Amino acid sequence: MKSESDQLARQAIKTGDNRGTLYIVATPIGNLDDLSPRAVKVLSEVAVIAAEDTRHSGRLLQHLGVNKPLLALHDHNERGRVQSVLERLSEGSDVALISDAGTPLISDPGYVLVREARSEGIRVSPIPGPCALVAALSAAGLPTDRFLFVGFLPAKRAGRRSALEELRKDTATLVFYESPHRILDAVADMAEILGPGREIVLGREITKAFETFYSGEAAKVLVELTADPHGSRGEFVVMVRGAEKAESGLMAGALDVERLLSLLMAEMPLKKAAKIASELTGLGKNELYQRALELKDN
Ligand code: SAM
Repeated sequence: MKSESDQLARQAIKTGDNRGTLYIVATPIGNLDDLSPRAVKVLSEVAVIAAEDTRHSGRLLQHLGVNKPLLALHDHNERGRVQSVLERLSEGSDVALISDAGTPLISDPGYVLVREARSEGIRVSPIPGPCALVAALSAAGLPTDRFLFVGFLPAKRAGRRSALEELRKDTATLVFYESPHRILDAVADMAEILGPGREIVLGREITKAFETFYSGEAAKVLVELTADPHGSRGEFVVMVRGAEKAESGLMAGALDVERLLSLLMAEMPLKKAAKIASELTGLGKNELYQRALELKDN
């Protein structure tokens, strides 16, 4: 297998670009064995590693026997630091970006750097690996065909509750990150706002020694979590089954279904009116067809 530097050299010859590559390297979310051999190779070959917390990443790199200059790049200094990373790349040095855990930019710093590097035409290449939201979803047993990654909800109660209100009717599986200090309050708000019967799966300490999944109706998960003496310790991904279609339909609930049917019936055959009303409200086509027949008879 050709080494990464061979590939880079070929790329440089092809493009006439001798600037370095910015590698976005995923690191473990708990279990160090999850670091890919390719990630280790890239970290050993780059000139500089930009890290969210240099002390934290220093320990990982020491464990790997990688000794490279580290540059701190976190939420508070990212804008200022981007320029110096871009300079290193322009000089032809390869740079790796890592965060404290998992995939950089996923609720982690790096967006400004990647955006700027791309806009300068610098090659940005991902070295994929652990990501808490993907790991959690892969084992949750909730629909994954459509999901919405929300990240962290607002820390304050009012903000969190209004964010949940906005998501209440979304039919996609919802994925949140939550801190141990707020997990009980967040799940309690979910049970209240999204509904006590809404299916929730919590992935706690994924890939670590005390990995636990809690699942079931929101109210039950809340009771289980409250009763577990370790329940609110560790790191959490919270996943929530999306709203049922009828609940989420643009108009269901507030809508006067009969009025909608009447309007549609005036313009098209009954069957078609029932079909469109069903798409708009999420209600059953046959049920709507029956109602349309009754309306017509009246
Ligand atoms: N970049 C990371 C990723 O790719 O998942 C996420 C970083 S974000 C600052 C940290 C949050 O991710 C934690 O508060 C928790 O919600 C979630 N998380 C990280 N590691 C986890 C784990 N092992 N188990 C469960 N959740 C985890």
